[in-house]
Amino acid sequence: MSITQIVTQVSQPQTILAKPRRSLFSCCNKRNNFVQMADEKPYLTEKQKLVDYTEPNTTTVVEQKIPVQIIQQPKKLLVLDLDETLVHTSFQPVQNADFSVDILIEDAQTVQKFTGYVYKRPYVDEFLAKMKQQFEVIVFTASIQQYCDLVMDILDPDKVIKKLYRTDCTFQNGAYVKDLRRFETDLSQVILMDNSALSCMMQPQNSIICPAFYDDKSDTYLQDIENLMEVLSQCTDIRKVLLGVRDTK
Ligand SMILES: [Mg+2]
Repeated sequence: MSITQIVTQVSQPQTILAKPRRSLFSCCNKRNNFVQMADEKPYLTEKQKLVDYTEPNTTTVVEQKIPVQIIQQPKKLLVLDLDETLVHTSFQPVQNADFSVDILIEDAQTVQKFTGYVYKRPYVDEFLAKMKQQFEVIVFTASIQQYCDLVMDILDPDKVIKKLYRTDCTFQNGAYVKDLRRFETDLSQVILMDNSALSCMMQPQNSIICPAFYDDKSDTYLQDIENLMEVLSQCTDIRKVLLGVRDTK
């Protein structure tokens, strides 16, 4: 296995050296124009394989007065890409990486070690902490499992975030595509954030295509998008909110 088979899209295109746009969704301050509060019937995820959810006990006791049970609405799914969305990894030694990971690749006769030097997207720790409160977070990468697990051990030491890997992608037209239908969840409740439009081609209406991160320490994307994420966490159908955002760009 070669380095390029460990991760996807690791090379920084020469044409993308300029600072990415501040935000795809700079209209977040218009949230009151499109917020739909989660005030409808509870959204049930009984088929949802990747999210732990216990159906609330709705048994009615007529004889005794008991406190009204507040049925918690399950959190929506936030599916996050890894490379160039949350981190960028170089397999050439660099001086200012945030951490490194050693990947061991075995074949029939040898074991090869590859060291990846990982840049964290600025604000990623704070962003993930907030997203874990607001959503059920899943990292869905087109990279290999060993690499993803090592990186996520650093980004998510309490192991709250679930993970899907290259083998979970759908290989289509030469690209690893992330098909959100595999979650068997109402797609009104699923968001995919990814720097690759190809990865999002199955459900573009559910997707936030973010600018790719490489090593720009002044990148503010994860901070810029926080307000939108809060709106999405509370809305009824994320596709309508994202459509509204796109329409106002
Ligand atoms: Mg990516």
